[in-house]
Amino acid sequence: MNVFFVGAGPGDPELITVKGQRLLGQADIIIYAGSLVNPALLSLAKNGAVIYNSASMTLAEVIAVMTAGVKDNKLVVRLHTGDPSIYGAIQEQMDALAAQNITFEVIPGVSSFLATAAALKQEYTLPDVSQTVIITRLEGRTPVPEKEKLAALASHEATMCIFLSVHMLDDVVKELVDGGYACETPVAIVQKASWPDQKIFRGTLATIAQVARESGIDRTAMIVVGKVLHTDYALSRLYAPEFGHMFRPAQEGR
Ligand code: SAH
Repeated sequence: MNVFFVGAGPGDPELITVKGQRLLGQADIIIYAGSLVNPALLSLAKNGAVIYNSASMTLAEVIAVMTAGVKDNKLVVRLHTGDPSIYGAIQEQMDALAAQNITFEVIPGVSSFLATAAALKQEYTLPDVSQTVIITRLEGRTPVPEKEKLAALASHEATMCIFLSVHMLDDVVKELVDGGYACETPVAIVQKASWPDQKIFRGTLATIAQVARESGIDRTAMIVVGKVLHTDYALSRLYAPEFGHMFRPAQEGR
């Protein structure tokens, strides 16, 4: 195996997997997504590793670096922010490699929506509040299928993690309210979750756009919307005494 797609995690270099860290240290060639991957991770590269920033490359150029590396029997690591499966544009890279009979492996990473939950010290799935997390984005230059428009998804009133959209916050709020979320629904925005300069902003659908305007949030930010951000919820059944499961019998009379 010569090519590894590695999830870099959300920013903190310690949040890469052990396997990803090992491969990064062994790689002869590293192609990293420069706009979001923390450059501190590159200090794991061995001496002499050749490092490319894909921010200024086309797909064809990325594939050319990979195929040339494979031909020379080099170990190639393609480093993507968070987990590569989420807005990582890896499918087209994997398909291009497969078309040339180049084998590869994917090493998952901690996605930024999970680092955001950690920053907020928040469970996304609270009993009686929401048992569903919707990962989505507002339509930008990349189109979003009609049935997945924010307003349509909002009708579920589930917990939502909205990527790639903080610079269009007014439109996000409008779609969510049009779709059925109440104006008082709480919203949190985490900018650069897990980075040293992480920031948290809170408000409601009625106030968050103003909060964002006043604080000048940059693009590396996650919008979380949903009633889970209120504290009112039922306790989990998992630890309830009368609720038995595979590893613990129910306690009678309680
Ligand atoms: N594959 C990545 C997402 C890439 S899309 C992942 O799994 O996290 C880029 C978007 O991810 C940004 O616009 C932002 O919404 C979000 N993002 C990436 N890193 C982030 C971080 N550290 N904190 C908050 N949001 C982040």
